[in-house]
Amino acid sequence: MTGSRVVLAALFISCFSLGAGLQASPLTLKGSLQQGGLLLGTVEAGSSAYYRGQLLPITANGQFLLGLSRDAPSGIELRVVDPAGMQIVQTFAVAKREYRIQRVNGVPSKTVTPAEADLARIRNDSAMVKSARKEITTRVDFLDGFQLPLNGPVTGVYGSQRFYNGVPKSPHYGIDYAAPTGTEVLAPAAGVVRLAHRDLFYSGGTLIVDHGHGLSSSFLHLSDILVAEGTQVRRGQPIAKVGATGRATGPHLDWRMNWHKERVDPQLVLETLPVQ
Ligand SMILES: [Zn+2]
Repeated sequence: MTGSRVVLAALFISCFSLGAGLQASPLTLKGSLQQGGLLLGTVEAGSSAYYRGQLLPITANGQFLLGLSRDAPSGIELRVVDPAGMQIVQTFAVAKREYRIQRVNGVPSKTVTPAEADLARIRNDSAMVKSARKEITTRVDFLDGFQLPLNGPVTGVYGSQRFYNGVPKSPHYGIDYAAPTGTEVLAPAAGVVRLAHRDLFYSGGTLIVDHGHGLSSSFLHLSDILVAEGTQVRRGQPIAKVGATGRATGPHLDWRMNWHKERVDPQLVLETLPVQ
């Protein structure tokens, strides 16, 4: 008796989810479904969206962000529950990317094979950076869009496998722009400064700006930082100056972006969220 009730209940639920007009309202994703991509999702206001079992922050208008890592799998699944309690589970294919190999020679050798004495500092740096990105705010600065932080030739792209002085190291996650030391770096979007540090071991002068919903920008190798931790910045505001601090061969800006722990490609963020 109990068994047949369970089966009946299951049939009832599946009829509901297949019935025309009874499904949750549609889910749309804007942006490029490829490794390193950032997507802007839209659902009916008041809905909840889940990715990998986690509830995503969602705006009053039903918008949310979803970032794909450098090595994201070939498909992702999103679950949406609309205000009426109807649920849809939708899968999306993710395109695989080919990444370049880039050899960088002439960096200070202590930054390629750090001395024992530097390891504690490196661990401490990495903990500081992690904690700066940990806070997930309800800011929606990302909705106003992103601009380039400076104009300069691109000398490094997202995802490349890097060899420093011939030694294989972790991939490069930023876009590098060559520019003379002292060139102003402009905030690509509004946000709040979460980290302003003048001397991290690998990244030198480093600035992290929170754009809301787990999306943040990091700026590396800076010669100067013009804003303090905790302050708000507006899009286009000068926030730092280009330098060659940390593991760098010459002056350039390395701009990286994170969605929570996932590193996304700033180039794809510019495409998904252009200036409004
Ligand atoms: Zn770089």
